[in-house]
Amino acid sequence: MNVPQNRLGLLIVVSGPSGSGKTTLCRKAADAGEAIFSVSCTTRAPRAGEVHGRDYFFVSEPEFQDKIKAGELFEYAHVHGRWYGTLKSFVIDNLKRGVDVFLDIDVQGAAQVRAHDDELLRRCHLDIFILPPSVEELRNRLAGRGTEDAAAFELRMTNAIAEMEHWPEYDYALVSSTREEDERRFRAILTAERMRSGLWR
Ligand code: 5GP
Repeated sequence: MNVPQNRLGLLIVVSGPSGSGKTTLCRKAADAGEAIFSVSCTTRAPRAGEVHGRDYFFVSEPEFQDKIKAGELFEYAHVHGRWYGTLKSFVIDNLKRGVDVFLDIDVQGAAQVRAHDDELLRRCHLDIFILPPSVEELRNRLAGRGTEDAAAFELRMTNAIAEMEHWPEYDYALVSSTREEDERRFRAILTAERMRSGLWR
């Protein structure tokens, strides 16, 4: 009888509309050593304070298309008029080493990850949808950011509402309340998932 000693990493896919708090949740959990954050490539411009290689790899449209052609992307999608994609080698290498990885990606990307027919992913994968407490609260949170012009703001609101329809496809639905409570419930999911027997060898 062998007591399980080693496990694969968890692939923790987190989606939710902009303003749901998902990026903050993932970042804080990553800072606390819960998992490492997969840094995506994007063709959108950096926002104030964003750092290349920490928040995103900011690339040109041709560079992004080259990555698709070279098969370097694990998943990718066109979101709010820009391309976003996850680097395959980073994700797979870490899962095999037993390191848990966060993917903060949209619903199209999450669907692509779910559809991968792969033994490793079947064992490692879970997904969580973060919902705002209400559409009104989402509007307030997004307006408070003030990072976009009016047209971009309305596009984000329309996309957010459409994106929220997808929560039933996810393993977990976390309806945001206070920041502390969200963090507590998020950590509770990770704690339980790490004990899933299929993850251990
Ligand atoms: P933002 O521009 O606000 O950073 O992100 C916009 C949206 O793109 C968010 O829903 C975010 O989760 C999503 N996103 C970020 N990186 C990726 C990625 O690599 N793949 C996909 N499919 N979506 C991403």
